Amino acid sequence: MEGYLNNQIFLGRLVFVLQALGEYFLLVPHFCGVMRRYIVHGDINNGEIEQVDDKAVEEGKFYCETRGLLYLDREQSLVEGFKKTFHQFHEFTLSCGSAIGTILISKRTACHRCGGKLLVEGNGNVVVFYHIYFGSYLGSRVKKSCRKCKVYEHYGG
Ligand SMILES: [Zn+2]
Repeated sequence: MEGYLNNQIFLGRLVFVLQALGEYFLLVPHFCGVMRRYIVHGDINNGEIEQVDDKAVEEGKFYCETRGLLYLDREQSLVEGFKKTFHQFHEFTLSCGSAIGTILISKRTACHRCGGKLLVEGNGNVVVFYHIYFGSYLGSRVKKSCRKCKVYEHYGG
């Protein structure tokens, strides 16, 4: 198999994984193997039928290339740069009086009872998030409502 970093599709998926999870998956060999399969296949169906001649060698190679990618920039790793930017963004939103590190809001636009338009209720309530990669930060949970039915829609509903 060619190098992981020489393939732009693989590289794009790897950067996504690093920015979404940080580098913690590298600490757990099984998780590292799952990430390698995701990066190579990017599809749940393809990942199940993978056939690799020497899985241990491929996983070792993936691990080494990923570790190398983290430190392309000697001043700041790829992952730390994203984390730092997230914290700057988070602090900015707080300084503006809004906790929007994450926004939890229903995607529904219509009431499930009457089909009427749902209205956003204010600016939401502050929620504390505990993230393995970002640490703790503040976000907002915003509800929507149907004025006619007095029904509230929450995130995940
Ligand atoms: Zn309604």
